[in-house]
Amino acid sequence: MAKHAKHAAPPRRRHSAQKHTSHKGVTLYTLGVLLVAVSALLFLRFWPRRSVDTVPPAVEVEPPAVSEELAVPEPQPVVTTLRFSATGDNLIHAPIYSQAARRAAEGEGYSFDYCYMNLLDFYAQQDINWINQETLCSKELAPSTYPCFSTPGECAEALYRAGFRVFSLSNNHTYDKGAAGIAATLRFWETMPEDVITTGLWKGEADYGRIPIQTVDGVKIAYLSYTEHTNGIPRNSKMTANIIYTSQQDVMEQQVRAARQEADFVIVGVHWGVEDSHNITQAQRTLAQSLADWGADVIIGTHPHVLQDAEWRTAADGRNVFVAYSLGNFLSTQSKPDQLIGAVLTLELEQTTEPDGSVHCAVHGPKLHVTVTHYDAGKSNVRTYLFRDYTPELAQAHGVRAVYPSFGYDYIRQTAQTYINSEFLELA
Ligand SMILES: [Zn+2]
Repeated sequence: MAKHAKHAAPPRRRHSAQKHTSHKGVTLYTLGVLLVAVSALLFLRFWPRRSVDTVPPAVEVEPPAVSEELAVPEPQPVVTTLRFSATGDNLIHAPIYSQAARRAAEGEGYSFDYCYMNLLDFYAQQDINWINQETLCSKELAPSTYPCFSTPGECAEALYRAGFRVFSLSNNHTYDKGAAGIAATLRFWETMPEDVITTGLWKGEADYGRIPIQTVDGVKIAYLSYTEHTNGIPRNSKMTANIIYTSQQDVMEQQVRAARQEADFVIVGVHWGVEDSHNITQAQRTLAQSLADWGADVIIGTHPHVLQDAEWRTAADGRNVFVAYSLGNFLSTQSKPDQLIGAVLTLELEQTTEPDGSVHCAVHGPKLHVTVTHYDAGKSNVRTYLFRDYTPELAQAHGVRAVYPSFGYDYIRQTAQTYINSEFLELA
């Protein structure tokens, strides 16, 4: 699917370092020339007439160097900065789609906007918003919940309205509905607007060379996504598309290297790690390093349902690569306190074009903005907040407290502080 995030992107932030000095330059040049001419006249008029040999040659009387510099401005690099965000698991349990059915207007199927409304301003401030769509979306299959999910397509449409354009579809629930689920989800995403990018599903091996690429303000960003497993549900021959497992290292290496060639930035989503564990496994770190070495710039981890830390890694070619090991759940009605705490990653993708045409790219300023999935008693009124907008009163009213009375405002902050490096943590 293609590629321009026209609706997503607010006006470009292209910071040109080039100075607009042409008019000023001409004026200064003219002054310089006049100064030289006057100096030369004065020189000829007043210089003591000694022997011809002692008169300095006229060529030495040149405009001061500074005038020349102003007349011909040094070309400056052009810097384009894109604000990028990544959001964790959008995991649609029954209470969420039942709520969406109740909230829909007469004659309309589902309204999920309520779930995301507290983050609209936040996402509007980004140029690109990426999310792991954990559950299959379609308008064909009946909705269903754990363990084999199916989600009304209206959920993805609400995410689109919230500003998301990049959807990662590779995770342990991708095969939940077998071949019918794959076919329905492919048809659904075909109906989404042109500027939607999906990644993580390929139509067989012949399709592996097709790297989804988005162009924003002239900057090309490649998106790849992989999953560790599919809950034991195997790919079958009737499936018209498939995921790529993290065990298929040769395929991943080929894709990431190809993406490195084709794009300015390579963003890789990985659905990995141990569920409900804050600990990063050695396998996660090893794969992160490989992805970095092959060409990834940003690695977005999802799946454990809880937060895991983030770090910079250095790629074989010296690039600084940012890895967020688990963003946790974004929206769900899971039942444990730390499954209700997530984070949205933001960072800047900066492309610099030098006057000689050479281009270099860098990732800057990664931050993890803590989120809280809130529901009232009985898992009602499910919606997500940034922690900075959440309140102790809301925390006291959280439905999870019926079983876990220790859940509260301080618990959320302490959990985030315990598992996320303070260098990246954004609570306020
Ligand atoms: Zn998962």
